[in-house]
Amino acid sequence: MAYKITDACVSCGACADACPVGAISEGAEHYEIDADACLECGSCAAGCPNEAIVEG
Ligand code: SF4
Ligand code: SF4
Repeated sequence: MAYKITDACVSCGACADACPVGAISEGAEHYEIDADACLECGSCAAGCPNEAIVEG
């Protein structure tokens, strides 16, 4: 299951700092996950203050 960032993202940047492979970057609307680079480790979801990162 890939991880995705939803519209609940408040662009705090915590997930980008938590990602071990640099798969998260700031997109046009909110932060985004590069699905090809993501290892699906879950570190980003665990640290999101707004539960904006979901599996799906
Ligand atoms: S940690 Fe959550 S709220 Fe912060 S940038 Fe990442 S997805 Fe957005
Ligand atoms: S699940 Fe892990 S590898 Fe994938 S974006 Fe989140 S922190 Fe990075």
